[in-house]
Amino acid sequence: MATVAAHNELNVYESAEARFEVAAKKLGLEEGLYKYLKYPNKEITVYIPVAMDNGHLEVFIGYRVHHSIVRGPCKGGIRFAPDVTLDEVRALAAWMTWKCAVVNLPFGGAKGGVICDPSKLSLGETERITRRYTAELSEWIGPERDVPAPDLGTNEQTMAWVMDTYSMHVRHTTTAVVTGKPLDLGGSQGRKEATGRGCMIVCDKALAKLGMQRENCRVIVQGFGNVGSMAAVLMHAAGYKIVGVADIHGALYNEKGVDVPALLDWVCTRHKPLPDFPAGGAKLSAQEVLFQPCEVLLPAAVENQLTSQNAHRVQARILLEGANGPTTAPADEVLERKGVFVIPDILGNAGGVTVSYFEWVQDRQGFFWRESEVNERLRDVMEHSFDEVVRYAETHGVNNRIAAYMLAIDRVAFALKLRGIYA
Ligand code: NAD
Repeated sequence: MATVAAHNELNVYESAEARFEVAAKKLGLEEGLYKYLKYPNKEITVYIPVAMDNGHLEVFIGYRVHHSIVRGPCKGGIRFAPDVTLDEVRALAAWMTWKCAVVNLPFGGAKGGVICDPSKLSLGETERITRRYTAELSEWIGPERDVPAPDLGTNEQTMAWVMDTYSMHVRHTTTAVVTGKPLDLGGSQGRKEATGRGCMIVCDKALAKLGMQRENCRVIVQGFGNVGSMAAVLMHAAGYKIVGVADIHGALYNEKGVDVPALLDWVCTRHKPLPDFPAGGAKLSAQEVLFQPCEVLLPAAVENQLTSQNAHRVQARILLEGANGPTTAPADEVLERKGVFVIPDILGNAGGVTVSYFEWVQDRQGFFWRESEVNERLRDVMEHSFDEVVRYAETHGVNNRIAAYMLAIDRVAFALKLRGIYA
């Protein structure tokens, strides 16, 4: 077994790097290529002056990191959160490069973030931050350069503002500059459900491989935002039993199964706290729910949920990573020893970027597909990618995560060799 070492377990950049190191070593990557792929292409820091509603002038710090443009324009979300750091954005940008390569999309990786607390901002303040951030980055983003998307704390509306601001700068409407837009502004059918749907597709593949049935599968979902709620709704409808749910306010665990459509209405339409859902089951902390009995554990919230300190408590047969980086590098080894079948983030949540790619293609064609077409193409990409990762793992005798990294690094390195280095 290849071992990973992370100096600071909770530093996501170190965590991502630790996996890269192991995969690069296993691949026998040449030193020059290794150095090239280890570091980002470009890191941009912007200081965003914003007139607040109370009349004060505030300055927010924002980042955009381009990790790679070797296989195509960079692609990656924009995160608005109080704890955004450059290290985190770097890690997420590199993950996007590997994720796009795992599912074989013609994109490189990028990520952006602004240090702010969206829950404390008015709509007007959020719009002004978004527009100034976009204006500062207008030379670096674009359909052929870098195509942002929503992430934690940003949504369709944020993307509409990014698209409008960019379009005002270039003097024509450019819908393909961002994905995850509202349908009326060049968004794609099926994008909202895409990441959750992708999770379900690879989970189905894992069940088939392990000889398990949906009906006998208890699922715990941590996070009830875009990824978690859509995965829970689709998996519930498909016959999985959702026994645990959690969001930032806490968790519920119910062996009899949670009524997911009613919970969605409770949380998303009625805006009530998830743990107060009537007859929802036992109340637990959002962390504790991860260690309850289940067949499938789906962390779909934030990073560093499973660590070397707690991974031994996981009871699931399958760990399906909906979030980016929910498992630290040292926790990988604990899970491997326990025989947990891991569907790593760069495969498990790649349904989102896959339909983002479809959105970008549709915007550039000016021709939009039916939802059934989007879903069918998504299924094709996810199933094929799952097979490739598992085959790679079996052929090279590594776990699924290292296999996914190896497959991705191999693809990017091959493209880089073909392109050569511009001097
Ligand atoms: P979101 O903002 O829509 O939802 C996040 C959810 O997590 C919310 O329900 C929130 O209450 C919950 N949460 C936050 N902190 C928590 C904590 N400490 N414990 C438990 N729950 C907590 O975000 P999202 O778009 O669903 O993204 C979730 C994760 O999936 C992130 O890691 C993101 O990078 C990743 N991801 C998202 C997409 C996408 O298409 N949205 C695609 C790929 C990966």
